[in-house]
Amino acid sequence: MKTNYTEKLTCATCGSDSHFEFNEDRSYVKCINCNREYLGGYEELLSLNQETIEKVKQQIGQTAKKEIIEHLKDVFKNNKNIRIE
Ligand SMILES: [Zn+2]
Repeated sequence: MKTNYTEKLTCATCGSDSHFEFNEDRSYVKCINCNREYLGGYEELLSLNQETIEKVKQQIGQTAKKEIIEHLKDVFKNNKNIRIE
């Protein structure tokens, strides 16, 4: 099974995928490019990135949505452009 996927989560307002700032438990996310705040945190950002989730799902094939979300969380966590405070 492939373990690397290229899709990234993007800001629903400006489309940037590298300007996210979030708190420790990701319950709050902010795009510092356009200053959009995701008060629903990471879950809200994910819900706005259904297209990305679908693409990853296609790459993975038959995989539970939960696993995809966990994977995307890892991608998000490991993105070096994101500052963790
Ligand atoms: Zn933005």
